[in-house]
Order: sequence, then C-alpha cells, then structure tokens
Amino acid sequence: MGRAIGIDLGTTNSCAAFVENGKPKVITYKDGSRTIPSMFAIDKKGNRLVGKEAQDQAAINPQNTIAASKRLIGRSFGSNAMEKMQQVFTYELVEGESSEVLIKVADQVFTLEQISAAILRRIKDQAEDALNDEVDQAVITVPAYFNDRQRQAVRSAGKLAGLKVLRVLNEPTAAALAYGLGRTLNQRVAIYDLGGGTFDISIIDIKDKIFEVIATGGDTFLGGVDFDDRLMQWVLQTFVDDTGVDVSYDRSAVTRIRDASEQAKIKLSDETSTHISLKHICDDDDGTPLDLELDVSREKLEELTTDLIDRSIATCERILMEAGTSREQVDEMLLVGGQSRMPLVRTKLAQFIGKQPSQKVHPDEAVGIGAAIMAHSLSSKAGPQDMMLLDVLPMAIGINKVDGTMHVLFAKNQPLPDYKTRTLTTSKNNQRSIMLRIYQGESKFVAENELLGTFVFSGLREAPKGMVKIEVTFHIDSEGILNLTARDIDTGQLVESRLKLGKDPDAPKRPSTSAPKPKKKPKKKVEDEPAPTKPPPSLNMPNSQLQAKPSIAKPAQEDAPMPISQAAKKAPQKAAQPSAEQPPVPAAQPGFFGRIIAWFKGLFGG
Ligand code: AMP
Repeated sequence: MGRAIGIDLGTTNSCAAFVENGKPKVITYKDGSRTIPSMFAIDKKGNRLVGKEAQDQAAINPQNTIAASKRLIGRSFGSNAMEKMQQVFTYELVEGESSEVLIKVADQVFTLEQISAAILRRIKDQAEDALNDEVDQAVITVPAYFNDRQRQAVRSAGKLAGLKVLRVLNEPTAAALAYGLGRTLNQRVAIYDLGGGTFDISIIDIKDKIFEVIATGGDTFLGGVDFDDRLMQWVLQTFVDDTGVDVSYDRSAVTRIRDASEQAKIKLSDETSTHISLKHICDDDDGTPLDLELDVSREKLEELTTDLIDRSIATCERILMEAGTSREQVDEMLLVGGQSRMPLVRTKLAQFIGKQPSQKVHPDEAVGIGAAIMAHSLSSKAGPQDMMLLDVLPMAIGINKVDGTMHVLFAKNQPLPDYKTRTLTTSKNNQRSIMLRIYQGESKFVAENELLGTFVFSGLREAPKGMVKIEVTFHIDSEGILNLTARDIDTGQLVESRLKLGKDPDAPKRPSTSAPKPKKKPKKKVEDEPAPTKPPPSLNMPNSQLQAKPSIAKPAQEDAPMPISQAAKKAPQKAAQPSAEQPPVPAAQPGFFGRIIAWFKGLFGG
C-alpha cells in the first residue's frame, strides 16, 4: 500500500500535503513551488501539457488551454452555470450523450473528469517524486457548496488518476481541521474561503477533536477570477480611451492583459499602487507596435471590486442566520483562499464580524493541510483516530411535485449521513419501470435547481396497476453523495436502478455544441466617442508569467487523459434505451388528479 496525501484541487491552483511523524507538510515540487496551476492544454504539436507547462503557453494558445475547469465539473450542458462560463471562456464546450458538458481541445473531446484527472495525476506524480514513495490514496477537497454531481465527478476524476479517494472533504471543513490540529479548543468559528473560483462560508463548532459543521453556503461563481476580470475590463477600456485601439477581440492580447491584471491585483495587496507594462500589445492601424503602460492604484481596484466583497458578506450574513448564531457568538473568523489576502476583504470582514479575522491559518495551504490530516487519519493502520467530523448537506435534495415546486427529501444544513424511504407504485397495468427525477438546490422551484439525475427503476414484475409497490431508500453519505436502492415490497427483491444523468427532458432544447462565436473583428481605432469595451473573449488564467519563455514541446504525457473520442473506440458506449418509464402513482384512486394527489400523499406521507 502506498502513501495517502491530501489534495486541495483548486479552481486556479492545486496544492498537496501529507503527514509525517504526526506533522502535516505541504509538498514542495522540484522547482520550489508549493502549488500547481490547475490547467490543461494541447499545444500546436499535439503535446498534452499540465500545470505550469500549460500556463506558460496560455497566451499563445488560448483556445486550447483549459483553465478553471472546476467551475464546469458535474454541470449539465445548457445549465445556467455553463452559460455563465461561456461569457468568460473561449474554449469550445460540447454536449455529451448524457447531457454532460464536454470540452473540445485541439479537436479532441474530453470529459471534465478527464481534465481534472490529468491535473490530479500530475499532483500524484510530483508527490511521488517529492516523497520518493508511491502515492495511491488521497482525500480530495471540494467547495462546501458543491452539489452531489460535482462531488461524484471529483471522485471519478480521482479514480481515473489512479487514486483511491478516501474521502471527498469540504474545503472549509479541511481548513478547520488544520486550525484545530494540536489545539484544545471549544470555539465557534466561521471559515471564510474566497479562492480563485469559488466562495464558501461555513460555521463550525470545534470541541476538542469534534468538528461539527452547523451551516454552510457559498457561491460557485465568485472568486479571484472575477476580481481579475473587473480589473481587466478597466484596463481594456483605459487602453481604448488612451489610444483609440480596442484589443478586446484579440485573444492573445486579452490573455496577456488578464494575466497582468491578476499580477497587479496581487501586488496591490502589499502596495498602494503598481504599474502594468505590456510591450507590443498590438499594432495600430499603421502597423506601428503599441505598448500598454498603465498605473493602477489600490483605491481603483477597490472601487472596481467592492461589490464582489459585499456579495460574499451578504452570503455570510445569510449563513449566520441559518446557523442561528449572532456575529458576537463567532469566536474566530478564519480567512482562507488566496483572494482573502486582499486588504479590503479583511477590512470589510472585520467591520462585519466586529473583530479582526484570525491569522492562525495559512490562506493558501490550510485546505491542503486539513485534507492531509484527514487522509492520514483514514489511512492509518489504527483506523480513523479520535477525530470526529460532522458535516451538513450544503443544498436541499428533493423531487418535483406536479406544480413544479420541489418536495424536499433532505433539507439544507441537515446533518450527514442520513436516509429516507418512500414507497412508489405503478400507474399502468404491466408497467415494467418507474422513473424519478432528483434535484438539488436552494430554490423552491425544481426548474431553478440542478437536476442531479433521473433514476429509473426497471425490471418490475408484470401486474395490474398499483399492485407493484417498491420501497426506495435515499441515502446520503457523510460526503453528501446520494445513493438510491429499491426493493419490491411484496417479493423483497432488489429492483434494478439506473441513473440517467442529464438535463430535464421537459427543458427547452438547446443547441448541442456551444462554441463561443469566433470574434474575428480586428483591433480597430476607435474614433471620437470611444464605444464601451465589449466583454472580451477571455480566459481566467492565474499567475502567468508575463515574459514566459515559449514552452518546449514534450512528448505526450503519461498523465494525459484519453479523449472520449478515443475512449469510445475502445469501449463503445451503450446506446440509450428507449424510455418506457412511467411516473409512479398510488393504489387505485378515481380520476387522474385524484391519483396524482393521492400519489403525492402516499409518497410523502401527507
Ligand atoms: P486559491 O484558489 O486559494 O489558490 O486562490 C487563488 C486566487 O487568489 C487567485 O485568484 C489569485 O489571484 C488570488 N490571490 C493570490 N494571492 C493574492 C494576494 N496576495 N492578494 C489578492 N489575491 C491573491
């Protein structure tokens, strides 16, 4: 058996840690870095690049460089989440057979799991190099606000990368473990986690070695990349104002400006002003090279992004309310995630909570360290140590009612694990299968929530309608992952169940590929009144080096994922079976509506 590590699989950067002699340590790579950019690319020669190599060539190959893919993992094609991503990403998204999002890179199609697996595989290889030992198990962290499908997808990615995933752990909970290690505490803490792509807030009670999450919430579309985007838009507009040239249609220029904006944003956490200098950003109409030279003040950055911080604080307020706790009852507020280093974040949080946020955890490393502590505990020969972790469900899980609202089976913030049983019955003579759609989200309307999938219970025995009754058990495990089992109440036999992922069949049809429209409009001189800069086709690229050397093409990497177009040749996917499923209804009731009403009464006990 190899080693177990903790992995913080971030939207922009990933970090890994392990425990040795009872002490957690962040893995340092050969080049001295402690994080790996969460990026994947295929270069012009067809080489697959991961991490820093992918990042270094992003500006010259933006369309085939995948960044921030974590924002898409476990999402349905055509979902609101995907549409938001389309506004900022240039890479092409394709619809999979089960309505999942796929990414096209250099004419090859990959699942999001394959992209994440490539990053995880790179972390595993580099960890093995650093530890000089085999690494085959891991605890992988996810935003607390990830839904069931996103969690399952991260699990699958770990498996594809050759790792036994010991547990999928919430990022704020991991940070709390890092904070609580070696301290004897009796505290209520708030973990504010503002990373590269997501925001989470969790209220956690720590009593010695018991970590009990009281409430959690967040925003999977709020993170450092949004701060970069604001600054980038301002830089683009200022360049138009100064030179009359709009470069927002030039992908390469936009990628360079985004990188420079991120670097400037980071500098402005320590300095009150900085300078952006990008040589030969474009040519003007006469073919003369133009440079971009611009001063940016901290004040300007704050003005551009203050509403993003306010949005995170509004979420904190809501989650404190859900936890039934006042600000005064919070003993410590811990800040994690790179974006929490911004001084205005600290200032606004101090005002909000009424005390200075704690400096006791490392904002970039706490999550990885917490994951390592958990990995060590779960893999140690003695079994899980006396540490106890009690987590909650981040968003309600339920099924649809006839009026389009959600019948909640498991409520938001309810403790995990848990299970519920419900009895379903057939509505037609000789009905052989029953179908059930499951949703997760905070809205009372299912259409506004994420469809986790459609469960099909098949192989039912032939019998008059209402004579076959199946008992379905919904089980959510301690990671917040839902499993269903069903058995025939009369025969006691297990019923075959199949999960069909995908968007709601009743949802309007969308096109099956969603490539951002190529914006070929050349940079142009803007005469007189400068038009507002249009949102550019942009990539969320973290920490790129502005004067990066062109990366040297390498032979295909072992850790590179197999595109599904190739995988399909090896293991052809079964064609989707015609759906003959029927919704369940209760035993004989007169009239259609009577049956529907009675079904719901029977199904949900009232
Ligand atoms: P994480 O996902 O925790 O690695 O956070 C990455 C995000 O933190 C990126 O958007 C970075 O630009 C941002 N970041 C890192 N360091 C700083 C800093 N000193 N000030 C502001 N943002 C930062």
